[in-house]
Amino acid sequence: MKVALFGTQFYEREYFTKFNVDNKHELVFFNESLNATTSHLTKGFRAVCVFGTDKMDKSCIQKLAKLGVQLIDLRSAGYDNVDLKSANTNNIKVLRVPAYSPQAVAEHAVALIMTLNRKTHKAYNQVRENNFSLEHLMGFNLCNKTVGVVGTGKIGRAFCAIMLGFECKIIAFDVKENEDLKQKGVQYKTFTDLLSQSDIISIHCPLTPKTTHLFDKKAFGKIKKGAMIINTSRGGIINTKEAIEALKNQQIGYLGIDVYENEGSLFFKDQSQTVIQDDVFERLLSFNNVLITPHQAFYTQEAVTEIAKISIQNFTDFEENRELKNEIK
Ligand code: NAD
Repeated sequence: MKVALFGTQFYEREYFTKFNVDNKHELVFFNESLNATTSHLTKGFRAVCVFGTDKMDKSCIQKLAKLGVQLIDLRSAGYDNVDLKSANTNNIKVLRVPAYSPQAVAEHAVALIMTLNRKTHKAYNQVRENNFSLEHLMGFNLCNKTVGVVGTGKIGRAFCAIMLGFECKIIAFDVKENEDLKQKGVQYKTFTDLLSQSDIISIHCPLTPKTTHLFDKKAFGKIKKGAMIINTSRGGIINTKEAIEALKNQQIGYLGIDVYENEGSLFFKDQSQTVIQDDVFERLLSFNNVLITPHQAFYTQEAVTEIAKISIQNFTDFEENRELKNEIK
């Protein structure tokens, strides 16, 4: 089947080509993101393969349908960028990669915690300049700290497993509780209790209308003063402008984010020679207790291999009219 892959990165071209065994599918890689404006590029394709930065809104989907596209395959787990209702109305199937490596994301959340806490990024730079002072490098023990996990799905559970190893007390909030985690000592709380009791809060729920700006001024007002917040889920779960205010009044003590609500125009490209126009993002960068990574939590060899393999299997399942086990309904 002829598939148009949008917003592709160098590593995706390599991995998709490698796992497209016997050139079963004709893969055409585009640098452009897919949205209503670039939708004309899908002419002649039955299937498109997209990522979180592609904007699959009603207008884009209607245009795809007119051009004969029948499949939208997401090479991601999250699907908040696709108007599912429009896809359904236009008879376009939507498939995804529901899980590729929850550990990749969970381990990155821990990397953010460890870096913010033990300041290894600062020590690295200072030692290179022969500055061996310990000033400003003090951290805290993770052992016995209370860690609040928002969303205990696949990634949240992998994250709990690691933090239990640090001998942290784990509390959680989810719309449905996981019995296995409870057996391991994780205690479910209300969202408000989680906010007020946690030393570290890690976000692992999807972006939905209910979780959009779940972390806002009101929520920041309820956290322990100086708590650490980690977001490897979706940027829109945090109200960035209100987080900046909470950083200024030191209510948030540390912020580690791999995602940002307006990341679409910034991330996944080298902007080192560009004048960044996003003042909110630039203000975030100015805090010495904020650590931002460019949506790389998923980016391990294992995860990228799984994404390529499962996406190609999705193309085959669709083309051969097999059961679509990764369909989003
Ligand atoms: P999952 O579906 O396995 O788990 C999500 C959990 O969140 C579920 O237990 C669900 O019940 C819970 N949830 C849903 N609505 C909630 C709400 N209103 N309040 C509290 N909990 C709620 O998903 P997952 O595989 O663990 O992934 C979680 C998220 O991580 C994805 O939605 C995606 O946005 C993000 N993600 C980020 C990266 C990255 O590279 N940064 C990579 C993969 C996934």
